[in-house]
Amino acid sequence: MFKRCSFRVGLLLVALAGTRSFADDPLADRARAFVKYHESKIRPLEIAVNNAWWEANTTGKESDFASKEDAQNRLDAALAKSEPFARLKAIYQGQLKDPLLARQIEVLYLMYLEKQVDPSVLKRISARANSIEKAFNVYRAKVGERQYSDSEVRKVLLQSKDSAERKSFWEASKGVGAKVERELKELVLLRNEAARRAGFSDFHVMQLHLNEQNQKDVLKLFDELDELTRRPFAEAKARIDAKLASQYGIGVAELRPWHYHDPFFQQAPAVYDINLDAAFAKVDILKICRAFYDGIGLPIEDVLRRSSLYEQPGKSPHAFCTDIDRDGDVRVLANIKPNEYWMSTMLHELGHAVYSSKNIPQSVPYVLRSDSHILATEGVAMMFERFSKNADWLRQMGVRVENPESYNRAGALMRRNQLLIFSRWCQVMLRFEVALYRKPDQDLNKLWWDLVERYQLLRRPEGRNAPDYASKIHVVSAPAYYHNYMMGELFACQLHHAIARKVLKSDNPSTAIYSRNKAVGAFMQKYVFDPGRTLDWQQLTKHATGEPLNAKAFAAEFSGN
Ligand SMILES: [Zn+2]
Repeated sequence: MFKRCSFRVGLLLVALAGTRSFADDPLADRARAFVKYHESKIRPLEIAVNNAWWEANTTGKESDFASKEDAQNRLDAALAKSEPFARLKAIYQGQLKDPLLARQIEVLYLMYLEKQVDPSVLKRISARANSIEKAFNVYRAKVGERQYSDSEVRKVLLQSKDSAERKSFWEASKGVGAKVERELKELVLLRNEAARRAGFSDFHVMQLHLNEQNQKDVLKLFDELDELTRRPFAEAKARIDAKLASQYGIGVAELRPWHYHDPFFQQAPAVYDINLDAAFAKVDILKICRAFYDGIGLPIEDVLRRSSLYEQPGKSPHAFCTDIDRDGDVRVLANIKPNEYWMSTMLHELGHAVYSSKNIPQSVPYVLRSDSHILATEGVAMMFERFSKNADWLRQMGVRVENPESYNRAGALMRRNQLLIFSRWCQVMLRFEVALYRKPDQDLNKLWWDLVERYQLLRRPEGRNAPDYASKIHVVSAPAYYHNYMMGELFACQLHHAIARKVLKSDNPSTAIYSRNKAVGAFMQKYVFDPGRTLDWQQLTKHATGEPLNAKAFAAEFSGN
């Protein structure tokens, strides 16, 4: 699919082992010199960005956020310089014989290309994006005479049984869309302008190309996913709708988007009879994580030592994992509480941690010493996170669950609903963004609700004509990215099934669990970690699972229920 991706896995691994020499290639000298330039000039800037990012998120101090922005600007400026890019482009356009070197140049080329935007266009893009993000930060939903924060709106959508109240809060939360609509449309045109100057038909097409993806292929994969999830989703939603309608005392036909538990119906409404949190009230989540990752042969003690794991004033309330230097300094930021959410979140973040320079061999060159793609590392993290909803796994980890059968039933149902609902929501996001950049002057209000009705089976509020798409901040701040969450989930299921088949010899992969089995870690090491980014995400998926990325394993999780 990409013109320079024709080398084979076997060749790469041979090159990695250093048993072949390509020293007589004159172009190779220039390529090696460029890689050396990158490692000496750009690598320190990258490490500085990662350190500054960590500081800002752990302290929350204004000055640390300013340093983080400075560090990022220094890195961006270095990558944007025209002279090194010209040198890199000439090497990229040549024919390197050494596949490992060619792969490094390819990865570098895409990385530098992303920053080659005309400075005047870039400045206008940043100004619009910042102004919109600020508008999101200060926006408060106004209901009656009072203003409400985002979390207050969410609380009403989670708890209120009063349809009129729900409707007024939902509508107020969408109000930010109208405030940013004009600027967002300008931003889309500017992004398209930058893309056209770089030779792409629009911004979405360019972003996917920069991330080693192709819009046509991604859409094809989402069509396949649509086919496989349409019916199970409709059935799951019908059950949820019946419960919601009875809770609100209305008919199913009267349900509208404000009757779901979040503003976009991207999460499964909490309509279950059992609360998973009770099992974690007296549990040491870190102890379980340690025991689990130790048990599969991927210990994480060193990561925990460097991490910031509990709440502190000013600290980011979220969770993430970062590889500071691609030299093994890997850390997790979290705010652990004894509940199911943090059990699953810690399994997730530590999944990122094991798939990092901690385990990717030092023999892989710096440029390629990372995960193969964002969707692959998200996939690995999602694969481990699933176990917190399984009572048998918890028992293996020494956690007492009161009523394991009902825990498993509720856990499986929650997971199934969550995956189905999220997959339909991702369909809306991907298809909206594709159409938005392809034809920005169409009726976007209508397009949004057409997609929501088609994929999420929600009913458009009668007579509504508002820019509701513009109330989703990802459209502004993480454009052309959302599909990766879904592809990560497909990768997670496909990899889990491969482990179940090849390592556990299980004939029911969907329900397979493991805890004390070092062969799982050995499989991950060999088939996922060892290649680093020498393989792109398609090659890695094939290498690890024997098949290209597809939706079959994901869909198998819903069969039999
Ligand atoms: Zn993640």
